Amino acid sequence: MRWTQTYIPTLRDIPSEAELISHQLLLRGGYIRKLAAGVYIYLPLMQRVIDKFSQIVRNEMNRAGAIEITMPVLHPAEIWQMSGRYDTIGKEQMRLKDRHLHQMVLGATHEEVVTYLLKGELKSYRQLPLNLYQIQVKFRDEIRPRFGLMRGREFIMKDAYTFDADELSFEVAYQKMVEAYFRIFKKAGLETKKVESDTGTMGGKAAHEFMLVVETDGGEESLVFCDKCNYAANIEKAISREANPPQIDLELNEMEEVDTPGASSIEEVALFLNVNPKKLVKTLIYLANGKPVAALIRGDRELNPVKLKNHLGVIDIEIAPAATVEAITGCPVGFAGPIGLKNIPLIIDNEVKRLRNFITGANKSEKHLINVNIGRDFQENSVTDLINALANELCPYCDGKLIIKKGIEVGNTFMLGTKYSASMGATFLDSEGKEKPFIMGSYGIGITRTPQAAIEKYHDEKGIIWPKNIAPYSVELIPLNYEKEEHKKVAEQVYNALIENGIDTLLDDRLERAGVKFNDADLIGIPVRIVIGDKSLKQGKLEMKFRGSEEIKLIDIKDVVGEVSKLLEEVR
Ligand code: ATP
Ligand code: MG
Repeated sequence: MRWTQTYIPTLRDIPSEAELISHQLLLRGGYIRKLAAGVYIYLPLMQRVIDKFSQIVRNEMNRAGAIEITMPVLHPAEIWQMSGRYDTIGKEQMRLKDRHLHQMVLGATHEEVVTYLLKGELKSYRQLPLNLYQIQVKFRDEIRPRFGLMRGREFIMKDAYTFDADELSFEVAYQKMVEAYFRIFKKAGLETKKVESDTGTMGGKAAHEFMLVVETDGGEESLVFCDKCNYAANIEKAISREANPPQIDLELNEMEEVDTPGASSIEEVALFLNVNPKKLVKTLIYLANGKPVAALIRGDRELNPVKLKNHLGVIDIEIAPAATVEAITGCPVGFAGPIGLKNIPLIIDNEVKRLRNFITGANKSEKHLINVNIGRDFQENSVTDLINALANELCPYCDGKLIIKKGIEVGNTFMLGTKYSASMGATFLDSEGKEKPFIMGSYGIGITRTPQAAIEKYHDEKGIIWPKNIAPYSVELIPLNYEKEEHKKVAEQVYNALIENGIDTLLDDRLERAGVKFNDADLIGIPVRIVIGDKSLKQGKLEMKFRGSEEIKLIDIKDVVGEVSKLLEEVR
């Protein structure tokens, strides 16, 4: 492709709308433009990246025995009502009415459609197993669309769905997808980690996420790894063991109300009473589907809202506003405690359940209670794990230490079990003629998120450094003076040779200064750069360079195809 024939509107300045480096580079490199919050136009370079990554995904999915189909984006609300998710998916689902006032939704995922498709149509165990996938646009009214293609409201996903007759066969299907995922990301130049994850509104018995670990702000997910065994989990799911748990008192002391003037935060109260924050218990008031609940965790801990949400089985969880807290506790924020809170469920973290003689707010301004004990002084409604694991705590499975890293979720796999087949009545006859619901799995890959994640991982101060297999072009050819007859002639000759040999090449045929061309080349990040300039031409040579290195190699014009192929072979 010739630069002047395509559309690559690079920008010099950093667009103010973009926080993340990868988002800035996509805008500056002329890859994308924003239409609305979380809605982007894919320009020619981005289109090529999407096509290349999609092709990798297709090849590996096909190789793993999955079959490509295309399901509609527009769904009748009824199929979502059938599965029960119409009421649980929440505000993320985009809804609209057609001209007959019929309720429709835009697909955020396709478990319902694919289950509906096979219900009543796929009747015998002989037709199983089956794995159907598509690469297609999805709509989600994300609460915080941000970071460009990372969290869009319209984005492209590869979604696959497996149907099996029994657990054993499902395990094989799931494992095949996991292996395909590792191959897909590796092919795209990305080393991913598989972590245990929360199943969310998708449901089912277990799930895994494929994460690209990054050091930048782009890592939205906190991940917990054991430094010794294979344990790896999203913080929403991770469990840990404390290395030095506090000693538990043997005796129950008498409860007392104490004044804590000017001390309301954990640090202030601990300092004022001269105790370890581990002796304090925080009472956090949340709204679960709009109704208040109190969650109790140790003073030094952080609550993970996903754990609370799952425990309560609600769709929505948010920290209660100050006015609600004050109405419930009858005092200013900062002095909430479990004793005397009326008609609101008390959910207690496992760790708190073991504590004795702890300190809580007294539900009175500037007052706390000391020597509080569960059972004697108040009764909990339920006990569960509510807290975030911390770095250096112990692994739940071995004596290794936990490490916390940041990552970007590029794909995930869900063991759905019979959640959708049972609720939607999608059954088959097994080998003994018994009617059974399909055992299902669901498998997603972010087709637009993954390339941006790759940029978040691979860039420098000048621009993108694409992994070769998802780069929009493999080679960028830069004649320094395209108006010069000789440069033009060599450029055309090399360009044709590369194209004829199936090497995607972008020829920068603009009549721009060399500096502009070099800056743009660094910005858009094509792996191999070939420069045609007077100095090397005199010796019948060209300058070849990999975007990720400073080393320039002089190559003979006649060897260009072989040299480029060799370099492409060597780089990531
Ligand atoms: P997240 O936790 O990031 O919201 P999710 O669990 O909702 O992701 P899935 O529903 O499993 O994601 O979607 C499969 C894949 O689609 C994800 O792994 C991710 O790569 C991609 N994806 C999900 N939501 C978005 C989005 N809003 N914009 C771009 N890609 C997305
Ligand atoms: Mg999501």
